[in-house]
Amino acid sequence: MSLEMRPVCEGCGAATPPADAAWICSFECTFCGDCAERGAAACPNCGGELVPRPRRRPEGDEGGAPSDR
Ligand SMILES: [Zn+2]
Ligand SMILES: [Zn+2]
Repeated sequence: MSLEMRPVCEGCGAATPPADAAWICSFECTFCGDCAERGAAACPNCGGELVPRPRRRPEGDEGGAPSDR
């Protein structure tokens, strides 16, 4: 069993690139914003809680260190 971010929505098959808004559930299911709204923040597959997937910045991604200092 391998956990990996899938680049497509499991609900409608729409592309969900890392730079685009997407939702993931507790079991790594990936959904686009439209499917997430239909499911009312719940995964249509397993009923897990959907949370906003962190987006990667298309620019200036050098290390990604948090602004601690
Ligand atoms: Zn979708
Ligand atoms: Zn799920």
